[in-house]
Amino acid sequence: MKAASVISFEFFPPKTAEGIAKLRAAREQLAVFAPKFFSVTFGAGGSTRDRTMETVLDIHEQGYEAAPHLSCISADKEEIRQLLKQYQEKGIKRLVALRGDIPSGEVSAGDFRYASELVEFIRAETGDWFQIEVAAYPEFHPESTSPTSDLKYFKRKVDAGANAAITQYFYNADAYFQFLDQAEKLGVSIPIVPGVMPIYNFTQLARFSSVCGAEIPRWLRLRLQDYGDDLASMRAFGADVMVDLCEQLLAGGAPGLHFYTLNQAGIISGILDQLGLDKH
Ligand code: FAD
Repeated sequence: MKAASVISFEFFPPKTAEGIAKLRAAREQLAVFAPKFFSVTFGAGGSTRDRTMETVLDIHEQGYEAAPHLSCISADKEEIRQLLKQYQEKGIKRLVALRGDIPSGEVSAGDFRYASELVEFIRAETGDWFQIEVAAYPEFHPESTSPTSDLKYFKRKVDAGANAAITQYFYNADAYFQFLDQAEKLGVSIPIVPGVMPIYNFTQLARFSSVCGAEIPRWLRLRLQDYGDDLASMRAFGADVMVDLCEQLLAGGAPGLHFYTLNQAGIISGILDQLGLDKH
C-alpha cells in the first residue's frame, strides 16, 4: 500500500481535565503516523474560542504542527484580527477557515457572511503568513441551491487565497472523484484532501450525517443497523469499510487523508495499520 503524502487528524477542544488527559493520550498514539498537522475545531459563534486556542497551543508546545479552525459566523473583524494576531505571535502557521454552522437562536449577523470573505480578510491582514485550508463538499453543502453554485462558491474561497481544502466526510468515493473533476474543470488546482469519518457509533453517525448532508449508502446503513447492540462487531466491520474507502481514495490519487477523530485514536490506528502506512 502506497503511503499517503499527507495525513492529518482533527480534534475538538476538551472541556474537562479528564478530557484533556484523554486527548493527549490519543494525540501521542496518533503521532506515530507522523501527521502533517493536528487541527482543532472551533465551536459555532466562538463558543470554544479559548479552549480551541489552549488545545492548539498544547499541541504546538509538544513540537507538532497545530491548525486552529476559525469560523466567522457572527464574528466581527476586530475579534478575528485579534485572534489572528495571537496565533501569529505564538508561531501558528496554519488555519482551517470556515463560515461555521449557524448557531440556533438569536445571533448577531457579524461582519462575514461566507468563508470566502474570511479567507480574503485573513490574506489582507496577514499576507502569506498562514497556510489556509477551507472546507469542500463532495456531496454538496446542505444549504447550497445547486451543485453548480456550490462549486462556484468553493472556487471563490480558492480565489480568495486558500492553499488547500479538506472535504466533508462521505462513504462513496465516486462523489469525491467527481468533485475533483468538476473543481479541476473550473481551474482549481489546490490539493483537496478527503475527510474520513471512521464509524464509531451508528446512531451518532446517522444524526451527524442528516445534519451535514453526508449520505450513508443504503447497503452500509442496513449492514450497520443489523449489528444492533453489538458495538464491537459493528466497529470491526466499519473499520474494514474505511480501509477499503481509504485504499480507493489513495489509489485514485487523493493527496492525503484527514481523519475526524472525535478525540479517539484506537479505530484510526487500526485503519492506518491495515493501510500499511509507515510509522516513525
Ligand atoms: P461557506 O464556504 O461560506 O459556504 C456555506 C454555504 O454558503 C454553502 O451552501 C455555499 O454554497 C454558500 N455560499 C458560499 N458563498 C456564497 C455566496 N457568495 N453567495 C451565496 N451563497 C454562498 N463548523 C464549525 O462550526 N466549526 C468547525 O471547527 C468546523 N470545522 C469543519 C471542518 C471541515 C473540514 C468541514 C468540511 C466542515 C467544518 N465545519 C465546522 C462545518 C462548517 O462550518 C459548515 O459546514 C458550515 O455550514 C459551512 O462552512 P463553510 O466554511 O463551508 O461555508
